[in-house]
Amino acid sequence: MADHDGTHEHASDLKPATVAVTAGRPAKDPDQPLNAPVTLASTYVAGGDVEYGRYGNPTWTAFEEALGALEGGRCLSYASGLAAVSTLLDLVGNGATVVVPRHSYNGTVMQVADLEARGRVTARLIDVTDADALLKSCEDAALVWLESPTNPALEIIDLEPVIAAAHEAGAYVVVDNTFATPLVQRPLDLGADLVVHSATKYIAGHSDVLMGAVVTRDEELYDVLKKRRDLLGNAPGPFEAWLALRGLRTLAVRLDRATANAKELVARLEDHPAVEEVRYPGFGAIVAVVVAGGEFAADLVTRSTRLWVHSTSLGGVESQLERRRRWRTEAATIPEGLVRLSVGIEDVDDLWADLRQALDGVRSDRVEP
Ligand SMILES: *Cc1c(COP(=O)(O)O)cnc(C)c1O
Repeated sequence: MADHDGTHEHASDLKPATVAVTAGRPAKDPDQPLNAPVTLASTYVAGGDVEYGRYGNPTWTAFEEALGALEGGRCLSYASGLAAVSTLLDLVGNGATVVVPRHSYNGTVMQVADLEARGRVTARLIDVTDADALLKSCEDAALVWLESPTNPALEIIDLEPVIAAAHEAGAYVVVDNTFATPLVQRPLDLGADLVVHSATKYIAGHSDVLMGAVVTRDEELYDVLKKRRDLLGNAPGPFEAWLALRGLRTLAVRLDRATANAKELVARLEDHPAVEEVRYPGFGAIVAVVVAGGEFAADLVTRSTRLWVHSTSLGGVESQLERRRRWRTEAATIPEGLVRLSVGIEDVDDLWADLRQALDGVRSDRVEP
């Protein structure tokens, strides 16, 4: 882009925390703003490269340069994470086989189920803890969908061998990198064709915007997806892109603090008698806790916190919790008593005091109705 200083071209020399702050900035010329402004435009004066607001927007471009530089590819932004997911699931031909972890993001599993119900694809839901079954399932697939860690089971997939097996079969590989973020894992470096994000979560990070993104190094795929976005109109608004980019600037510090908080809470939770099991992959700030006493006890915990917000979603600066099985569509293999914690950036002692008093309530309330 002529009006940008091309920071993304030097991004590979810089560390990710620097790229998050610097990529996608306007050129450093006198009186240029430091930040890309929100460009509110439905159309442009004729004769240029963009022409119309559905085909491009400078605020999207700034966001796309920044996230693209972080993931190491070219980025397209979408109206939501699921808008990005649907456009990727649509890459495969009619009747094709799509492999999806059974504990993928629930909306992704539901989209695949909906496509299957309409005869559009054959869905193969996989237990990713069975590595052999996962590799075998790739053999006749057209698309292999990977998410690691999975949500909310927090299972980890060894991505490289699965990507290799999928490519052997000629399948596209998509990695949903929403949980890990490019600061923890860069799937394109591991061979994935496409990375998808719910930018709603860690990328934007303040629970105030819905947005999605796709990143790829494959120019052909990029062109196909760009043409589809032009046609489908599933792009974000410019203010959403501006908010997501503003959030992305602080991703490294937010994730550092949230991760440190999560590690401390995991250690304390493991010693609490009302906690049956703590699941934590060892990085990031999502923790799953199986509360002793199942559904009733877990609901009591989510109703008893004052600081932690009982709400769905994750990745914001504020700590959130929810019992996932309260959603009827959540996988039946997720324990009824599993509470997902999205650890925020508050003081860890305040977070623990609040969580502990909620869990203490379970102990004295053990008698179920
Ligand atoms: C939230 C989420 C999505 C969907 O994103 P939206 O922005 O809510 O549409 C997809 N994948 C994962 C892992 C998510 O957490």
